Amino acid sequence: MAFRFEIVKTDPSGARLGRLITPHGTIETPAFMPVGTAGTVKAMTQEALEELQVPLLLANTYHLYLRPGHELIRRMGGLHRFMAWGGGILTDSGGYQVFSLADLRKVSDEGVRFRSHLDGTEHLLTPEKAIEVQRALGSDIGMVLDECIEYPATRERAASAAQRTLEWASRSKNEMETAPPSEATPEQVFFAIVQGGTFKDLRRQNAAELVALDFPGYAIGGLAVGEPHELSCEIAGETAACLPMERARYLMGVGKPEQLVDYVRCGIDMMDCVLPTRNARNGYLYTSQGPLHIKNAEFIDDARPIDESCGCMVCRRYSRAYLCHLFRANEILGAILNTHHNLYFFLDIMRAIREAIAFGNLSRFSSELQARLEAGHP
Ligand SMILES: [Zn+2]
Repeated sequence: MAFRFEIVKTDPSGARLGRLITPHGTIETPAFMPVGTAGTVKAMTQEALEELQVPLLLANTYHLYLRPGHELIRRMGGLHRFMAWGGGILTDSGGYQVFSLADLRKVSDEGVRFRSHLDGTEHLLTPEKAIEVQRALGSDIGMVLDECIEYPATRERAASAAQRTLEWASRSKNEMETAPPSEATPEQVFFAIVQGGTFKDLRRQNAAELVALDFPGYAIGGLAVGEPHELSCEIAGETAACLPMERARYLMGVGKPEQLVDYVRCGIDMMDCVLPTRNARNGYLYTSQGPLHIKNAEFIDDARPIDESCGCMVCRRYSRAYLCHLFRANEILGAILNTHHNLYFFLDIMRAIREAIAFGNLSRFSSELQARLEAGHP
């Protein structure tokens, strides 16, 4: 199926209820994407993801490029077939991981030269290479290479990264139009990424220039890198307002449960974050009354579920006492059950947000959710 984005309803706040039609299914938006770094959402089987009705997950190009290699995945029929996943897949460009994980990075107009964090081998990631690798993977939605910067960054640094991001987007566009399409997913599309740090005018300018290149969707990058939440919202909102109404907007790498609705109200349609999965493996569990650390002594003989108001498979069956035991004994099942619950929790918030937009009461929902989650915090 060809890629398409449709808006079903909008909210006065700027929130949008929509539908993302991809070659591997329709995704109701706003949507939260679990992170499946190396072609697996850690501790989850694909069957379990289906049970959670995950419509779209994120896979990291950098990791798959280094191991097992995009050429192998191409020969195996693309990432969907390789990992036996019939739902949607979004891949990043590899840029963010190169900037955060790889050694000896050297950024030039050509691309980013880096050493693998696995074996020290040297690689060059260019805008063209990022397209080639993602086409081999055959994701439904790919990202063009951008230059990520640290926070805080000077205005000069943010401006030069935004300029390079624009030049790379233009080269990516050219590569998309001239190189052969993905064999596994010929309808694959690529989103551009807006940069510009925390400078509103740079964001507006970068957005306008990227929009002129006409991409089927736009991501907002370079946020959730350590700046205060209010500032992320301000910049995300300002940037989203410069993007075309009818194109999907993806805010990369956010957020905490109580923040998701804020981003939706900025006009964001898609988000991804490692928090539910990574925290689950550390025994940090989200509940409607605020988070809890399952390893704590208070749960040793607590027969209640993680969250009495959660409808997930874990909360219907297992006690805090059992999960506390699994965590303390370092049992694999602990990570599996904790991850299942945390993902359900995030997906359920998004479900509730979509419902609130549909019924026109997002504003009330937002303040109630905020009050409930904050009440549970110490
Ligand atoms: Zn649960």
